[in-house]
Order: sequence, then structure tokens, then C-alpha cells
Amino acid sequence: MSRHMQFKAEVKELLNMMINSIYSNREIFLRELIANAADALDKRRFLALTRPELASEGEIRITADEGACTLAISDNGIGMTKEELVENLGTIAHSGSRGFLAELKKAQEENPATAPELIGQFGVGFYAAFMAADKVSVLTKKAGEDQAYLWESEGVDTFTVTEAEKDAAGTTVTLHLKDDFKNYLEYWTVSSVVRKYSDFIEYPIRMAHKTKDKDGKDVIEDDTLNTMKAIWLRPESEVTEDEYKSFYSHLSGDYEAPLKRIVFSAEGASEFKALLFLAAKLPFQYQFGVRNKKTLSLYVKRVFITDECPGLLPDYMNGFVSGVVDSSDLPLNISRETLQDNPQIKRISKAIVKRVFSELQSMMEKDRATYEKFYAEFSRLIKEGAYSDWENREKLQNLLLFETMNGEPGKLVSLKEYSDAMPPTQKAIYFITGENRAAVEHSPQLELFRQQKLDVLFLLDPVDEFVINGIGKYAEKDIVSVAKSDLKLDEPVQKELEKKTKEAAEQNKSLLEFLKKTLENQVKDVRFSARLTESVCCLVGDEADPSVNMQRLMKAMKQEAPEVKRILELNPDSPLIQAMAKKYEAEPGSAVLTDYAAMLYDQALLCEGSELPDPAAFARRTAKLMTDGLTKN
Ligand code: ADP
Repeated sequence: MSRHMQFKAEVKELLNMMINSIYSNREIFLRELIANAADALDKRRFLALTRPELASEGEIRITADEGACTLAISDNGIGMTKEELVENLGTIAHSGSRGFLAELKKAQEENPATAPELIGQFGVGFYAAFMAADKVSVLTKKAGEDQAYLWESEGVDTFTVTEAEKDAAGTTVTLHLKDDFKNYLEYWTVSSVVRKYSDFIEYPIRMAHKTKDKDGKDVIEDDTLNTMKAIWLRPESEVTEDEYKSFYSHLSGDYEAPLKRIVFSAEGASEFKALLFLAAKLPFQYQFGVRNKKTLSLYVKRVFITDECPGLLPDYMNGFVSGVVDSSDLPLNISRETLQDNPQIKRISKAIVKRVFSELQSMMEKDRATYEKFYAEFSRLIKEGAYSDWENREKLQNLLLFETMNGEPGKLVSLKEYSDAMPPTQKAIYFITGENRAAVEHSPQLELFRQQKLDVLFLLDPVDEFVINGIGKYAEKDIVSVAKSDLKLDEPVQKELEKKTKEAAEQNKSLLEFLKKTLENQVKDVRFSARLTESVCCLVGDEADPSVNMQRLMKAMKQEAPEVKRILELNPDSPLIQAMAKKYEAEPGSAVLTDYAAMLYDQALLCEGSELPDPAAFARRTAKLMTDGLTKN
């Protein structure tokens, strides 16, 4: 019985792209198929813990048949049922695959060399077989079942699944090699690829090797191509950088070198060995909101348990930590369901997380350039942690970096560095939010701070304000926005400023009344403030109101954001305000003053980088003012 089944649309597209593209890295198809075989062996070994009758010595075998021009990769792993064959090899189940396809297309146009890396990262590995073969067959029998099945496809549109004969459980993938892949029939080609990518695979990868014996007669030897060493159990001094790097690539799908390696072992309450890597680059799928889950593999005494152990790493860390943890005191038959609540796992997790933080902290202190590279890639995840991981929030807060007003562009400081540098009279930690440095640098709200020689943190990432508000206090100092109405400065300065604004308010009472009335639809109050030393006016938020930035964010997230009116603050020393006050006394009903009131508000909006509600009206008023300026004198 044979039935032609259609590939899912995405699969077809992916197949076409693989088949039609020439990869600089042709050999990766073999790496992908061997990785699948090893996964299948892991699964069977795990299953055999509870069903000992399924136990078997795991092996991967590569067989080249020159006559038929085929290369077969066999394993005696878990195998697949008919349904699994259709599901696993006929569809792309991964949620990121659409984004992946788009990115793969782009990569192929711009830089074909990056395409294979994408394939590894997305786990669409099996389809790489069609790079090398124009026909692929998969003969498989699920461990513990009687019926075997044969899946066949020429990678065009359809595949077939038929009942078949197979003695032992496991899977054989047979590639009918394309002409330009015939060199993979040679032992030396295959063995060098295996050593390059799959040396650490824990099962022997065997291949027959034709050589001559000492009498010159042809003999066939069965060779094991890989060394199978569990790299995390070997002393660091005995492992080469290349071995670490290829192991890291295998784990993470990242073909760049990791930023840092952490090797450690714990003894006492919980004994384990860990080999961890910090990534150098944000995994590519994070751009599509697809997150890594399988980054840290859990082993018990060299036996693979799972690469998706809940509770082993906080989710945000999955973006930059990968590796292996091998416990010597967890029970081998631990069930995946109970891992989450297992106290041993909790202890291991705590130790790992602590170690990652201490590495990052010391990197920040001792190797700042590397840390800043890390931060440039992963700041969003660190911030996510600072916002969500209550247990580690202090450690995470210390890893945050910001530009500041007094620092050069691009120079980053931590909260600790900022607070250590504060003059003793400074009461609070100040920040301003905005889209980029240029947008905040000249903000009127900073004038007083510049004059007082105080530094201000620049929060330029939209999420910064959430994070900072979540922190609230650092080193017992409040963290406050310079755009809030209620600034508390050093006592003497504060007193002097209060006096000045009070006097200005008394002297210009009627102008204030007039402005309040005229702008009552735009602002909730108009008042004098000492925060301005150069600009005429600015807008500040009432203490309890959400900031402009926060409102923008809420809108961007399609959240209901109530329109919040702010307070217009005026500079008492500004000649313009003084002139307006004079004019108001002389001619309270002047139409010019009404125009000017609107223009003050618009100016304040422009200075903080907000959009004008009615740019045309603003232009009209400015044009009129310019004309008057030219014609009246
Ligand atoms: P991934 O391995 O990333 O899941 P693949 O496209 O390589 O993606 O494989 C799809 C699925 O097919 C695997 O998850 C696995 O369930 C199944 N599979 C592939 N190769 C084998 C094999 N040799 N033995 C058993 N199952 C396999």
C-alpha cells in the first residue's frame, strides 16, 4: 500500500531553497543526520530506564554503497511510528519556521555563507538531507513495536509511507547522492566531517574501512570515527579550544565562538559538574520572539536526561547561557514530570545561576569591554530579569548600564558607579527618558542639573523606565525622573529655588491666570519653576501620573492610555516671560498674547521630542510672527 502525501507548504518552500542553493558549507547535512541519530539513541536510553527490555547498546553506523551511489546513516535508537514519520518529516512543527524562511531567503541573497548556520539553529536539520541527495528514504521501526515503515521522497512535492521489513528497532536514513556529492562515499571524507562536528557524540559512529593488511591484501576494518569523550568530565587543561567550540556549536546551534566558558563542579549538598557557555550573540530567532528552551542539558552520571529541564535556568538566561550539567546524586530514573519540584534541581539551579551572575559581575568590573559587548546583545534579557526575577533582582540591577548626561556618548555607567560618584549633597538618583541621546541631551528639564553639576542617567531604551520604576530605590536613594513636578534637591539650593519661584508667581499672578485659562484644554497647571535656566518653558508630569514615555509605550502595546494633562513650567528669568507680563498689564485683551500662549505650549512639546497636535497652526503662527518682525521695524 503506497499513498502519496503532500508536504506542508512551508516544507516545500524550504526544500526548494535548500536544493537550489549552493552552500559554502556542504558537509553540514551529515552533521544534522548524525545529531538526529544521537537524539534518537538518547530517547531510547531514557525510555529503557523504565522499560529495561528496550535497552540496547547504542550505535550509529554509516554505510557507503558505491555501486548504488547511496550513503546510509543508521541508528538503533527510538525509531518512529507511521504517525511520527508523517508528523516529523512532513511538517515543520516549529513556530519560528516562517520567520526562519524569510530570514533564510534574505541571507541567501545577501550572504550565502550564513545560511547553514540558520539551518542548525532552527532544527530543520532533516531537510538538509535534500542538499546532498535527490532521493531520501527513511526505514524505521519504533522500539517496542512490530511493524516497520519506509518513508520515501524525492523532495519535490510529495512523500510516501509504506509498510516495510526491518529486523531491529531504529532508523536508517538512506541518501541517493547527487553527482556533486559523490565524494561522501569515501571513507576519508566522511570520517573527517564526523571528527569535525560529531566527535563528542556519546555513541560510537562506525564505518567500514577498506585497507590492505600487511601482506597487501584488501581487508575491511570496522572503524569508530569519534572519540566519544564527555567533554564536561575532562579536566579543562586537557580539552582544546576547538573541542570546546565545536561542543558549544552542537549545544547551541551557534557557530560563532562563545563569549565565555565556565567550568565548575559542586560538592557537598549537591554534587554536579557543569560546563557552561555565555553566548556572544543574541540567538537569531529572538528577533522573531522565538525563544530558546533547550539550552542546558541535564545528565545524571553521563546519562542524558533532558535538554528541557523546567526550573533549571530562569527563562531570560536561556538566551545567553547554554551547557551541560551532570549530576551524580539525582536518581537515574527521575521522571521528567517531577523535575520541576525536585529540591536537588532547585539546588543545582541556584548554584548555576549564582555562578553566572558572579562571572558577569566580575566581567563588568575587570573586563569592561567584553561585558559591554555582552550587554549590547543581551541588555533586554538582563532588564527582563531585573524586572521579573525577584530573587536575583539585586544582582541584575548591578548589571544594568546607562549613558549619562555628563558622560561621553556611548560611555556606560552602572547604578553603583553613578551612585558612588554622587556628591554627598545629592539626594536622589536622577534619570530622563527619551528615544535617543540627541532627543534628551538638550532637554530643558536638564538645565538645572547642568547648572548644579549633577549627573543624570539617560534611559534610551523604551523598556528602561519600567525597569527603573520597578527598582525604585538603589543604595537607599530614590530613583526619580527629572520630568516629574516634585524635585527635591539639596536643602539650601532647594530653599533658594522655592523662594525665587514664589516671588515670580506673586509678581506675575495675572499673567499666570491668563495662561492657565487660555491653555486649560492642554495643561492642568501653569507655574514658575527654577528647573529652567535657559529655556523659556517645559512640561513636567504630576508626581503620580504616568510619564509621556510610559504613555507612548502603552499606546504602542495597544493598551488603553488615558490622556494625562501635564504642567507647564515657566522660567522666571526668561526675557520673553517678562515681556509677556508687561504686555498683559498694558493690554490684557491682546490677541498676540493668546497666540503666544499656544506657542509656549508647542515649544515645550518640541523640546521634549513630542509631536505637535496641530503643526499647521504652529507654522501659521510662526510665519505671522516672522512677518510682523520684518514689517513692524
Ligand atoms: P529536530 O531534530 O530539530 O527536531 P529534524 O527536522 O532534524 O528536526 O527532525 C524532525 C524530527 O524527526 C525529530 O525531532 C525526530 O522526532 C524525528 N527524527 C529525525 N531523525 C530521526 C531518527 N534518526 N530517529 C528517530 N526520529 C528521528
